[in-house]
Amino acid sequence: MLNMNRVIARTLSISMLLMTLTSTAIPASAGSTLLDATFENGTDGFSARATESVERVSTGAYEGSGCLLISNRRNEWNGPVTPLGSDWAAGETYSFSCAVRQESGSDVAMQLSLQYDDASGKTTYAQIATGTVSSGEWTVLSEPAYIFPENSGNCYLYVETASDLCDFYVDSVQSEKPSVYQRGDANHDEKIDKQDVADLLNWLLTKEGNVSLDTADMDKNGELTAADLSLLRQLFIYPELTATTTVTTVTTTTTAAPTPSEAEWPELHPGDKWFNTADVSWIPAGKKTVALSFDDGPCQNGAREGYRIQEALNKQGFHATFFYWGERIPGNEAEILAAEKGGHEVANHTWNHPDNYHMMDASSVLSQYTRVKDKLNDILGVKRDYLVRLPYLNNSTTISSTLPVPFPNCGINTADYEPGHTANQTISQIQQAAQNGSLNGKVVLMHEVYDSTATAVEQLCPWLEQNGYVVCTVSEMFKYNGKDMYAGRTYDSCF
Ligand SMILES: [Zn+2]
Repeated sequence: MLNMNRVIARTLSISMLLMTLTSTAIPASAGSTLLDATFENGTDGFSARATESVERVSTGAYEGSGCLLISNRRNEWNGPVTPLGSDWAAGETYSFSCAVRQESGSDVAMQLSLQYDDASGKTTYAQIATGTVSSGEWTVLSEPAYIFPENSGNCYLYVETASDLCDFYVDSVQSEKPSVYQRGDANHDEKIDKQDVADLLNWLLTKEGNVSLDTADMDKNGELTAADLSLLRQLFIYPELTATTTVTTVTTTTTAAPTPSEAEWPELHPGDKWFNTADVSWIPAGKKTVALSFDDGPCQNGAREGYRIQEALNKQGFHATFFYWGERIPGNEAEILAAEKGGHEVANHTWNHPDNYHMMDASSVLSQYTRVKDKLNDILGVKRDYLVRLPYLNNSTTISSTLPVPFPNCGINTADYEPGHTANQTISQIQQAAQNGSLNGKVVLMHEVYDSTATAVEQLCPWLEQNGYVVCTVSEMFKYNGKDMYAGRTYDSCF
């Protein structure tokens, strides 16, 4: 579950949010395609405006196997034309696009144009989209939001050149009534609520589900990323904004506004008590707890061990702490989002895992921490600090007097990084510790990048549950056992 109470405000343009939240009623036709001429089987209702030739050809199409070739042109305005019927209404907004190509040997200015009769019946022309078309290359002329002229009637859409009389090709002529669902209504259910966050998160993880690019693409960069999720989440932390807009579907009833104590992540300093927001209500009373913790992720180049570990934990309803290596994050944000979604603890393993972290000066020590913190906050759309696992567990007085967070250390070292280490070695080590009573309350050091580790976790999770253990995050383990952590100190165990 997403923990909205832990989400707090980040600096964001208030005017941008207002802009996205003040759109009006939602017409039934929103998002519908009105014209999609692909010329796969014919001329799709296009014909010549005059004596030029407009024919379907089956070579060199922009998409599919067919396009139009326009030749024998005597005037700039000679080109393919199609009538626009009553689907296009005066004063309404539509998107238009078409692909064009020419082979004259030089650049040609081309345009997608509208012919219509104005209120007095006079034939009038307007440019919808224009562009410079390089010779031999398909170029898309497009206008995402063309406002149809007021009092227009008898409308035709056509393609022409500005001054050349060269032959040209046309393909993929499209027009849509753009969706006017509000940005943030990712699932088009006409309200912006936690379900939009859940649906977008699910889409980012699985590339499946009911999410629309037009409304989920919060930063309008043409693709759905963690940044969009971050911006969407922020809609929930400005209740005062949603309350002052005209949009009645945006309410705060589904998400309680964070109370000040929960909303404000405190500014932590070395020596401060860790701001432990862990929810331990899911752990039954009287359980033995162990904090499995995994360094060196997220996995690279499509490796799945991190996901396998998460899935094994999720299957048992368990949580763990993942210490992420900053420079491995770009391109692998989805694994971190999945960890957050699964209730796991996202944590910090420095930016580039320096060998000599314990010999660095304070500003380097801090920037290694802050760079990862900022990255994680961006990905998750939150403002938090994150527990740190020190590279190679190397501490120094500079580190412990500089970083504002505790350092979960190593109560049990599985040594899963040793060459030749096997899953069975980890399994029997943990099982023995459970059986001799030394596992309870321990921070266990593991690394998510090894197949043997993933295999061990897959087998250990059901075994630990059967043997009365709950696997939980470091913060959860301390909270559950009534223990505090302090910034700048290392912790092998909560006891
Ligand atoms: Zn490491």
